[in-house]
Amino acid sequence: MSWLSELARADIRALSPYQHARWEPGLVRLHANELPWRAPCDESQAGLNRYPEPHPHELESRLALLYGVDAAWLLAGRGSDEAIDLLTRCFCQASRDAVLITPPTFGMYAVCARIQGAAVVEVPLRRETGFSFDLPAVRAALTQRDWVAKREGAVGPVKLVYLCAPNNPTGNSPAAATVLALARELEGRALLVVDEAYVEFSEHASLIQEMRHYPALVILRTLSKAYGLAGARCGAVIAAPEIIDLLRTIIPPYALAQLSIEAVFRTLQADHLAVAAERVGTIKRERERLAQALRLKGEVLKVWPSEANFLLVDFSDPGAVLERAHTAGLLVRDLRGSVGLHPSLRISVGTREHNEQLLASLS
Ligand SMILES: *Cc1c(COP(=O)(O)O)cnc(C)c1O
Repeated sequence: MSWLSELARADIRALSPYQHARWEPGLVRLHANELPWRAPCDESQAGLNRYPEPHPHELESRLALLYGVDAAWLLAGRGSDEAIDLLTRCFCQASRDAVLITPPTFGMYAVCARIQGAAVVEVPLRRETGFSFDLPAVRAALTQRDWVAKREGAVGPVKLVYLCAPNNPTGNSPAAATVLALARELEGRALLVVDEAYVEFSEHASLIQEMRHYPALVILRTLSKAYGLAGARCGAVIAAPEIIDLLRTIIPPYALAQLSIEAVFRTLQADHLAVAAERVGTIKRERERLAQALRLKGEVLKVWPSEANFLLVDFSDPGAVLERAHTAGLLVRDLRGSVGLHPSLRISVGTREHNEQLLASLS
């Protein structure tokens, strides 16, 4: 057993997973208490009267192909949200271990940690430095936590360090060299979870191809953003097979609904993939156009550079902008309550028409 498994909770390592009904699609299923007829209006391929494959291996092979990894390195789940939940439960012992986050960032890292009873160590990104990733500050926080852990016994170490690249909601990415340096330093101590939910919209390459050389790296990908499948709830965690095997013991059987599995297969057909790639290009062009137009508006203080499909924008009166957008029938994200973001709203890049409506609501 390598350090990767030893990092996991001992009770999870010892767990025997739920024994699901056998999966032999060629045989008549009289072993799972399903109904033998389809429900009226069931238009699925496989029939929704049947349980889906307990662990969707074919789907995982398809996603592994999409992301350029061996299938043993990938686990599919209900969005990357489920991956975050599984990682937290697998590695953080309640009332002992911790995760490290760099707010403002995606909210689920802290929410999953709190549900699990894990501590949350925060190393804020600072507005003065353009919300850039602060490696020395992260190092210092980790050292201090280790020191507290040794001294107090009852307080455990940081097990997961989250890094969102590009970061939601600031839109920027840390340099690959910085991320890899941290991954190297964490070896033997913690996992570096890099959330690449928006990487398709970025000029930065995914770090997936580096994983073989950096065992501490865990990468999250999702079909919710660039592939337009948020409603299907499908994401993937990519990590060393030892970690994948552990996560597989705690993911519920039948996690992915049959309708979602079928939607993913259809979406990942070559002709549909070409459409997705073209749309990513359209969003990136529209993002730059919207950013330029916003900079000309009097109430806009700053449009932060973005590598994602949204813009972080500072306004002189963000409350008034929210109101006017709402009156025009548009929802934008209020970030005034987040660390360092009191003047800021987050605006998802829409169709040209939506973006024009937003601009018109401003002045
Ligand atoms: C939207 C988003 C996700 C995606 O979550 P899913 O559960 O896959 O829909 C993950 N991480 C970040 C940072 C996001 O903004």
